Amino acid sequence: MSATPRPQPSRKVLLAAPRGYCAGVDRAVIAVEKALEQYGAPVYVRHEIVHNKYVVKTLEKKGAIFVEETAEVPEGNIVIFSAHGVAPVVHDEAERGKLATIDATCPLVTKVHKEAVRFAKEDYDILLIGHEGHEEVIGTSGEAPEHIQLVDGPKDVANVEVRDPDKVVWLSQTTLSVDETMETVDALQGRFPNLLSPPSDDICYATQNRQQAVKQMGAQADLVIVVGSRNSSNSKRLVEVALGAGASASYLVDYAEEIDESWLEGVATVGVTSGASVPEILVDGVLEWLAARGFEDVETVTAAEESIAFSLPKELRRDLRAEARSAVED
Ligand code: SF4
Repeated sequence: MSATPRPQPSRKVLLAAPRGYCAGVDRAVIAVEKALEQYGAPVYVRHEIVHNKYVVKTLEKKGAIFVEETAEVPEGNIVIFSAHGVAPVVHDEAERGKLATIDATCPLVTKVHKEAVRFAKEDYDILLIGHEGHEEVIGTSGEAPEHIQLVDGPKDVANVEVRDPDKVVWLSQTTLSVDETMETVDALQGRFPNLLSPPSDDICYATQNRQQAVKQMGAQADLVIVVGSRNSSNSKRLVEVALGAGASASYLVDYAEEIDESWLEGVATVGVTSGASVPEILVDGVLEWLAARGFEDVETVTAAEESIAFSLPKELRRDLRAEARSAVED
């Protein structure tokens, strides 16, 4: 008599929405592509335009050269500043090096820079909640280094020293965990009851929406796969949010090939999402990989609809307009 096969738990994928490219990343990547079309290769880019290996490699193939420092760009060339933003000294360096610049800083990062400048002018001590060494934090701090100190999470609050406890404001990096940031703010308020908050959220809409979708999905998933690179702050936060929401396991992968078969042992529901710098083609690869292992049923978990788009950097718009005008005149 043959044994009756044990029923397999039904396998399902929960796909988070929104996920992947945000408006700031989309704009920065298109800016590099348009610059290559407009001015021809090479076009230099200071730091990874966005924190994603695949995007960087794809742009390199098209003729972009990524450098760590502005000084590496030969005189007279074009340099694009990444979506994470740069400190004013970097603009000065580019001017000294006779470089043409295209600033692809996300407008939502620029907003935080402007807040920092304004509060520094009003002589506040600015407590910038963020991760030490992250490019965005370096850029924002550079707007008013004498007024800004970094607070890297709740554990750092005890180390904060200010000149006047009644004249303190907090700002934050745009890609943090919403919940952990509020923990840090609560701890800061415990020390400085008159702490001022930023006029509007610094953690951007894209970070908040992607975290919210993972919270909804993570509670129902045994495993959550986050597509994103290891240097992507918002992608790393999605792993933490998934675990916090109740997923038994969560991993960050750049590509489907990095998924370990053993992660699927005993798993019936897999959540899938991607960081704000991840093109959809990489998520498609993960979905195909899962489908080949019986996870063909895909259900979307939607936390928000997004319709935000940013116009291209002004330097590019100017040159594209000029070219369009001369084409009409010819
Ligand atoms: S994650 Fe937010 S701040 Fe960063 S580039 Fe995207 S929209 Fe801008």
